Amino acid sequence: MTTKATGRPSGFYLRDGPHIPSYFVDVQGCWIWTRFTDRDGYARQGRKGEPCFVHRANYEAFNGTIPAGMTIDHLCRVRSCVNPDHMEAVTHKENVQRGESFSVENASKTRCVHGHSLSGDNLKIETHRGQRRRVCWKCRQEVSRRTWQRTKARAAVEKLESKTK
Ligand SMILES: [Zn+2]
Ligand SMILES: [Zn+2]
Repeated sequence: MTTKATGRPSGFYLRDGPHIPSYFVDVQGCWIWTRFTDRDGYARQGRKGEPCFVHRANYEAFNGTIPAGMTIDHLCRVRSCVNPDHMEAVTHKENVQRGESFSVENASKTRCVHGHSLSGDNLKIETHRGQRRRVCWKCRQEVSRRTWQRTKARAAVEKLESKTK
């Protein structure tokens, strides 16, 4: 995510030249569009006289052409976010289903199973086997801490065993 975030996205520098980005990066890694957004809150920018969705343009700039019939789903649920890492091309059907299950039950979930807040610094968007998902950072840290302790304990046991041999 960081590499992309520091890169120079091509899709939306049109009016101000290449050095003035039209978004800021928030703590969650969202690229929040600071210009015109439409009624629904999606980032818009005129391109070749045609108004276009910035998140779609950006997705295409980084991930390639959106296949025909596919629509872009915001995994972070932030409509004004234009970070290509936070988007996934899905069929319209999937998007509708997610709107009912994924987004309502999961993506709009404000807490993880352990009750940590799923927002701000604690919300991470991760790619796992090609699927992007929302991850609780506290729980993730806890898991790696335990794995580390287990590895350490095992190493200590092995050391003891080798000594007694
Ligand atoms: Zn985002
Ligand atoms: Zn958690």
